[in-house]
Amino acid sequence: MTEELFRDDATLLACDAVVTAHEEGGVTLDRTVSYPLGGGQAGDTGWLIAGSQRWRVTDTRKSKLTPGAILHCVEGELPAVGTAVRVEIDAARRQAHRRFHTATHLLCALLPYPVDGCSITETYARLDFHTDEPFDKDAIQSGLARLVAEAHPVRHRWISEEELDANPGLVRSMSVQPPRGLGRVRVLEIEGVDLQPCGGTHVSNTAEIGAVVVTKIEKKSAKTRRVVLGFAQPSEA
Ligand SMILES: [Zn+2]
Repeated sequence: MTEELFRDDATLLACDAVVTAHEEGGVTLDRTVSYPLGGGQAGDTGWLIAGSQRWRVTDTRKSKLTPGAILHCVEGELPAVGTAVRVEIDAARRQAHRRFHTATHLLCALLPYPVDGCSITETYARLDFHTDEPFDKDAIQSGLARLVAEAHPVRHRWISEEELDANPGLVRSMSVQPPRGLGRVRVLEIEGVDLQPCGGTHVSNTAEIGAVVVTKIEKKSAKTRRVVLGFAQPSEA
């Protein structure tokens, strides 16, 4: 198992760790700040550092061999098992993921349809909604800008399944039903806006999302509407 430091603090950019195993294409660590591809969000990139040696981390993934372990993809000769390394992630990439990811929660609040696809990258985010309703790009854009300007606090917390069951109102207010059977559920709350189970990395206030704009609305199929977000160009900001 890799201790997932990014779950409790998305602002952490570095930590110390130990190499626990080699896998095809990389190494697993006992702990990490590097988010693995999942929930539609791209993996972090960065560096593993041991003294004067550096390994470029080109991607982070969940291990296919060891449940709960996180694979740091590196090229070339791998650091030996037992090596103490400094894990550093690409701060700009993480910040882009945090901003876009939180913005997709705002879209969920603005567009009350089931989500059937999600992709969050360094340069864009897209969310697919299951509906045949037409989408109004300008209305979505202004709704997004309003929620960003209103500066809603964003926080996550872990709740037990018992707590979930004891608060049926909580489940009703969630836009996504939580996964069951893990004992506890991580929920992300944007105060007064959105509440849903989520394991991704987010900003701590919607104001931090800043100048994110709707770049495209697409009709992907008769029953799917796609919203694409990008960063505003300086002239639009
Ligand atoms: Zn999220």
